[in-house]
Amino acid sequence: MTTSEQLFQQAQTHIPGGVNSPVRAFKAVGGTPVFIERSEGAYVFDAAGKRYVDYVLSWGPMLVGHNHPAVREAVVKQCEKGLSFGAPTALETELADRLCEIMPGMDMVRMVNSGTEATMSAIRLARGFTGRDRIIKFEGCYHGHSDSLLVKAGSGALTLGVPSSPGVPAALADHTMTLTYNDIDGLRQAFDEYGDSVACVIVEPVAGNMNCIPPLPGFLETLREQCTAHGAVLILDEVMTGFRFGLQGAQGHYGIEADLTTLGKVIGGGMPVGAFGGKREIMEHIAPLGPVYQAGTLSGNPVCMAAGLATLELISQPGFYQPLFERTTRLCEGLEAAAREAGIAFTTNHAGTMFGGFFTTESTVSNYQQVMACDTAAFNRFFHAMLEAGVYLAPASYEAGFMSAAHSDADIEQTLTAARSAFASL
Ligand code: PMP
Repeated sequence: MTTSEQLFQQAQTHIPGGVNSPVRAFKAVGGTPVFIERSEGAYVFDAAGKRYVDYVLSWGPMLVGHNHPAVREAVVKQCEKGLSFGAPTALETELADRLCEIMPGMDMVRMVNSGTEATMSAIRLARGFTGRDRIIKFEGCYHGHSDSLLVKAGSGALTLGVPSSPGVPAALADHTMTLTYNDIDGLRQAFDEYGDSVACVIVEPVAGNMNCIPPLPGFLETLREQCTAHGAVLILDEVMTGFRFGLQGAQGHYGIEADLTTLGKVIGGGMPVGAFGGKREIMEHIAPLGPVYQAGTLSGNPVCMAAGLATLELISQPGFYQPLFERTTRLCEGLEAAAREAGIAFTTNHAGTMFGGFFTTESTVSNYQQVMACDTAAFNRFFHAMLEAGVYLAPASYEAGFMSAAHSDADIEQTLTAARSAFASL
């Protein structure tokens, strides 16, 4: 029995499925999840000491690389002063000021503890602000596991075949309308019919929870236009895309301004942090300024704020992003070339520092239906061959991959060498 097999067996006695978040269980790809002991730069090391080039990056947060000394030092320094006070600190103001300086259209921001909390709170705020109940989301987009949003959801919900989870009251799900991502006509029709009863639209500006699907030209623009025309709040869920396209997130990259933006992952540099923020006239409806209630014992936690600030400092350095964009492109081009050599039908998408591979004969993949039609069995075999060769990809074909500043040309080469053998073995 391997060390991970042993640890996984022990974990299952008192933890449902042996994991604290479902996709970690390797249910989609089969086999035993790798138990990680430590991380450094572009690598994670399992409990038996094996090194993996990591493209999961804790599901996105580790943009500067794992265990970056500057982030670690900021955390340790804050720990020496205390872990939590439940009272305001200057660090929270510093991070809020910085975010509002960077993000287009963000006048005010509230810190929370996860992406789920950020989107759940943003939805409540949009409903409270507009006095409407109906929300619109897109099939295959994942916005965390709050009731209203666990309807036709992506990521682990999709992987485990429960995109609409039992336990979500039908009466609540009825208020969630689900449209097809990148379907501009469908969007216009829905707004023509229901627009004036829509509280908000929530969207991943680049979908990263049904693999990696960038927006088609006109999709986000139409969303912006329709929300404005019908008085609906546009929530850009940048929990995943935030800081992965440059400091201004996907909205800066695509030139679309949100009414509310949700953040998570990178903003905490590996610590549990989320945030929602946006236009002053909407944010002023949040308690204690306004009547929409939202709170958190550990929200704005000083250790988390310190990690976030240190991460922001690193990614704000001039020239931080360009090498990451280039390496993401090189990786995708290399994977496609490797597949071609082996005669495997395969294509990739990438945007910013996010990427995804698809086992399909289609030359482009731009919607949910196309993602669902991909050969998951081929992905699963590819995944295990890569893992064996020391490359850690997300353990499901519905997840985006991520690049970090720590991934070197040599890491990309190792990945492509592994991919050539993996494709050949299919
Ligand atoms: N929104 C998006 C776009 C996400 O990708 C995720 C998590 N992958 C969430 C929200 C939920 O964040 P968390 O897991 O921190 O609750």
